[in-house]
Amino acid sequence: MVFKLSSASKIKINMSGCGKRNYDTENLALEALIEAIIRFPESTVTNVYQCDDCGNWHLTSRGAKHPYLIENLENGYIKRQRQALEWKGKLGYN
Ligand SMILES: [Zn+2]
Repeated sequence: MVFKLSSASKIKINMSGCGKRNYDTENLALEALIEAIIRFPESTVTNVYQCDDCGNWHLTSRGAKHPYLIENLENGYIKRQRQALEWKGKLGYN
């Protein structure tokens, strides 16, 4: 795959001083949490929190599952997205 320099330069490496990936809002962090669980079933992330050091939101494996994660597990969204990913893999779209 060929990346054009113009598009590659738009990728912002967004790392904080505390060395974790930053999310500007709780919602963005929650979307990333769900995405991580879908793509990496072995992932241990369970929640999001606002960092005391940098003020941004990070993912964490500590603590109870966030209600939004529980909701997406219970309503079958995560399962369906995983199946969709599996099928894409089988069809060679990954
Ligand atoms: Zn931080």
